[in-house]
Amino acid sequence: MTSTAQIVIRSGREKSLRRRHPWIFSGAVERVDGEPEAGGTVDVVDAQQRFVARAAFSPSSQIRARVWTFDRDERVDAAFFRRRLAAAVDTRRRLGLLEPNGACRLVFSESDGLPGLIVDRYARYVVCQFMSAGADRWRDEIVDAIAELLTPDGIYERSEASARRKEGLASRRGVLFGAEPPAALEYRAGAMRRVVNIVHGQKTGAYLDQQHNRQRVARLASGARVLDAFAYTGGFAVDALAAGAVDATLIDSSGDALGAALEDAQRNGVADRCRIVEADVFAELRAMRDRGERFDIIVMDPPKFVHSAQQINVGSRAYKDVNMLALQLLSPGGLLATFSCSGHVDAALFQKIVAGAAVDAARPAQILERLTQPPDHPIALEFPEAEYLTGLLLKAHGLAG
Ligand code: SAH
Repeated sequence: MTSTAQIVIRSGREKSLRRRHPWIFSGAVERVDGEPEAGGTVDVVDAQQRFVARAAFSPSSQIRARVWTFDRDERVDAAFFRRRLAAAVDTRRRLGLLEPNGACRLVFSESDGLPGLIVDRYARYVVCQFMSAGADRWRDEIVDAIAELLTPDGIYERSEASARRKEGLASRRGVLFGAEPPAALEYRAGAMRRVVNIVHGQKTGAYLDQQHNRQRVARLASGARVLDAFAYTGGFAVDALAAGAVDATLIDSSGDALGAALEDAQRNGVADRCRIVEADVFAELRAMRDRGERFDIIVMDPPKFVHSAQQINVGSRAYKDVNMLALQLLSPGGLLATFSCSGHVDAALFQKIVAGAAVDAARPAQILERLTQPPDHPIALEFPEAEYLTGLLLKAHGLAG
């Protein structure tokens, strides 16, 4: 596609682009020449008209353009998407993540040079999210390239996140290629059999960013009583039970998710050791604490509590509250695996919040390990915003006072 449209950057505001950060905020735009359509390709030039980047135009978003390439000779066309997708798939292949029945994230947006595009693979089925006007504009080319590279049974779209609203895009879901997805799509996570509902599940169906952390916790779980708070379909609990946990209590507010968790537990032969609780985690943990319940391992994996910089204080209080309750529910010497998936809460802030929770709980604890997102959710060096999942594996000392 050739385009005469261009974005002229305000003098001095091209610095982040020179460091290859891929976002152009509306405040950095001096003017737009021509009439690019939403998602259309524009050249980005500095105040002296020097080429800086080639980007996708997002007229409705605060992020007015997202860079496809910093190379003035690189055209943005079908071949461009084939190259970027092939590189992303190659990364996962080299990581050993492409076993035929496994699942992994194939494309992680900016970190794979494809801003606004998420692609997850569950065995022979692929799920895409087009989260920016640019990614949306190239949907057909992207789908063709994925079909060619992976020859999946089908490709399904789950473009529903709030990010799309900010881009002025409506929600979309449906088959993009091949067969309808099976209602229960089975994949393997190590030795575990897992089922995902990619039509009705949250996000693309499952939280692939926790696959490795589930196995980490499972290796500690033999003989333990486990509490899986914000369990969703019970990935942490079922892995821990398969690894020898005595029992597991799963709490989530979604009855559908817990139904799927129970089926997953049955499929893996551990349902008899599962206790399912459909409840609000905050209220339920308080009730459990007041009843004097105790657990040897607690997993605390809440949804994003901080969606913007303005929410950091309120969200931090929520993280502190659930972690205080979790620490109070731990048996002496018990382990807490606690997470934040809020990009605005970095590892240092999260550690501070949890330290505050330990003081309030009167449960001193030590960090055994830092937990993070897996390598199929890579972090481009020039795009630190890609780092969003932070976690701590803590050991609580005996009960104080
Ligand atoms: N640990 C899960 C992923 C958790 S996602 C895994 O490994 O797959 C966050 C979950 O929290 C979602 O399932 C959502 O339904 C649930 N949730 C959100 N707010 C909640 C609340 N206040 N109480 C209980 N569950 C909640």
